[in-house]
Amino acid sequence: MSNRTAGALLAAALLWPVVGLALTAEPLPKPAGVAPSSAASGPPAMLAPSAATPATAAPIAAAAPAATTPAATAADDMPAGTPPEAAPAPSAALVPITANAPAKQLFGQVATPANLAARSIGFYSRGCLAGAKALPVDGQTWQVMRLKRNRNWGHPDLIAFLERLANGAPRLGWRGLLVGDLSQPRGGPMLTGHASHQIGLDADIWLTPMPDRRLSTTEREELSAVSMLDETEGAVDPTKWTSVHARLIKRAAVDSRVERIFVHPAIKRELCRTAGGDRNWLRKVRPYWGHHYHFHVRIKCPRGSPDCHGQDPVPSGDGCGDELQQWLARTAKPVEPPPAPAKPEKPKPPVTLAALPDSCQQVLLAN
Ligand SMILES: [Zn+2]
Repeated sequence: MSNRTAGALLAAALLWPVVGLALTAEPLPKPAGVAPSSAASGPPAMLAPSAATPATAAPIAAAAPAATTPAATAADDMPAGTPPEAAPAPSAALVPITANAPAKQLFGQVATPANLAARSIGFYSRGCLAGAKALPVDGQTWQVMRLKRNRNWGHPDLIAFLERLANGAPRLGWRGLLVGDLSQPRGGPMLTGHASHQIGLDADIWLTPMPDRRLSTTEREELSAVSMLDETEGAVDPTKWTSVHARLIKRAAVDSRVERIFVHPAIKRELCRTAGGDRNWLRKVRPYWGHHYHFHVRIKCPRGSPDCHGQDPVPSGDGCGDELQQWLARTAKPVEPPPAPAKPEKPKPPVTLAALPDSCQQVLLAN
């Protein structure tokens, strides 16, 4: 965002709708009530501080080690630095929308989607989402977990994909999906967890099947996902991993909307070992840190999202050779704990609203 645009944003926040109308070609609604300078007029759309995303002991948010992102493509897949799930500092008041405000605060404090046409804006790890749709928390063949996080929002294409995958799951022998995080109501960076999941095109799906009953709200917060790894962390545990896990991931991978799927390298190894002759789908299944409690599905930029930046195409081949070996070496359990770093690393300054695509300001200001 240029300084000029940043100025316009401030002006828009203060003088809406006079200036706001000049900012965009979208049919713009009234302001969302995002208080420019005072929380007194805070609208119902905003989460009260006490309802902010809480910490959970969820192992599904396995963090990527910060300083060791191995390959350029992987850095784009999910940039390093994803912190462990931790409680955001409770803030007394809503953060005013300014160009230099931390984007994760601004997007993390909005509880409802932007009432605009559905659009994914920016890149998977640097952007936002207009016109998000919620995945209903209960379907015949799925249940959404960790409801307090309010991250069951996605582009309608992602919601359609999840419903498709869930509906077909029982025929694979998988009762239904336990669905983890998608995106926040307006996408954007999060106060805790993921580096990606910002534009409504990423979803985490547990590697634990849905039970044959509705989970309570408390269970959905507290139930732990199960790691598929054995004690070496270099292979799947045959008492946990089944051929149905493989069928479910394959089903997701063959969906034409799906761009990539991230799994732990040991899971990719098992998929490579058991795929047989039909191997084309393996290309989309990418090894990555974490992802042994859940797999992560990323869909392509949807039609009608001209500002959505897709990722480089996945390399050709099934990805079962050298690249996988390198990943297995990187993620191997260390024999000795690594030495403590000499100096604590300086935390990076947070991504500001100005660092996101320009349209993300309209997404925040929209009704
Ligand atoms: Zn994910």
